[in-house]
Amino acid sequence: MKILVTGGAGFIGSAVVRLAVARGHAVVNLDALTYAACLANVASVSDNPLYTFEHADIRDRAALDRVFATHRPDAVMHLAAESHVDRSIDGPADFIETNITGTFNMLESARVYWIEQGKPEGFRFHHISTDEVFGSLPTDDPSVKFSESTPYDPRSPYAASKASSDHLVRAWHETYGLPVVLSNCSNNYGPYHFPEKLIPVVILNALAGKPLPIYGDGSNVRDWLYVDDHAEALLLVLEKGITGRSYNIGGENECSNLELVRMICGILDRLRPRDAGQYADLITFVPDRPGHDARYAIDPIRLRTELGWRPSVTLEEGLARTVRWYLEHEGWWRPLQARKGVGQRLGTPQGAEA
Ligand code: NAD
Repeated sequence: MKILVTGGAGFIGSAVVRLAVARGHAVVNLDALTYAACLANVASVSDNPLYTFEHADIRDRAALDRVFATHRPDAVMHLAAESHVDRSIDGPADFIETNITGTFNMLESARVYWIEQGKPEGFRFHHISTDEVFGSLPTDDPSVKFSESTPYDPRSPYAASKASSDHLVRAWHETYGLPVVLSNCSNNYGPYHFPEKLIPVVILNALAGKPLPIYGDGSNVRDWLYVDDHAEALLLVLEKGITGRSYNIGGENECSNLELVRMICGILDRLRPRDAGQYADLITFVPDRPGHDARYAIDPIRLRTELGWRPSVTLEEGLARTVRWYLEHEGWWRPLQARKGVGQRLGTPQGAEA
């Protein structure tokens, strides 16, 4: 297949690009290279003849039409988005423009291209979304999880913008017949995670001896998925998912933020012991984020039974891999910390979360 991947210079998009090229697919990586992008994430495939980069913005409809006409993809994996919840609270406008209007542009460009191609049956538009569209779950009943039919109840500007984009994608399927698939995933972590998100913030602050900021009392629960497992699931949904359907993707690794930070501290205590005390001594509670969702948890039964997918990496193993990666890749994360607006988000009083 020739796959047009949007946002392929970001955290998850770059994992998708690396995996798709390794599987023998041709990949066109379309990315605007915002503050969150890093072309080093795809350096391992940049010289591969299967790989092409297009510097374009999904807010620019004409640019998208040109990319479709030039590359004539068999499928689209749409990941480009503003992705940081804290930034969406500070300044929601970019989230509306990129996540909603940008997705509308992608759908329209794809629709026109698909019609011009004679509506090929195999064409797919895979929209990559988040479990945050479903809102917040109670923490006192672990049996309650998000399924594909859970009503949408987004509670942050980020989640609302992604929910809007999901609705547009479904409408383009119902109204125009565009062959779409959707997926809604829980929190990802792993190598190349941008250093303003919770897990890298904790690792890098710990290494610098700075406070480890945790929102509220740290009881918020997230369902963590190793990013390469997500990339595997995304390609599977693209190749085998039923048109018009959505698939929830989760790690089956529920954990409170406080437990998560303690696990990372324990790994660092083993791999890079501090001179004095333990890393957990650096944990600092900061005022909670407004509208902070209590718990996210995914029921991935549809993906498991229909497509046979399961996560392959446990949270313990994935965190150990991730910490080792950050210890070995200072040359990757150090320059990113200096980018505009990133440094001020590290450390107290600002918290962080995926
Ligand atoms: P990211 O912020 O790391 O990367 C986003 C990429 O999109 C960047 O390379 C950026 O340059 C690009 N981009 C942003 N605006 C653009 C625009 N207007 N035009 C073109 N490119 C643009 O994000 P991520 O964490 O890799 O998330 C990727 C997708 O997965 C998003 O759609 C997000 O909503 C979804 N998702 C993320 C998570 C998570 O835990 N990170 C979980 C579930 C779903």
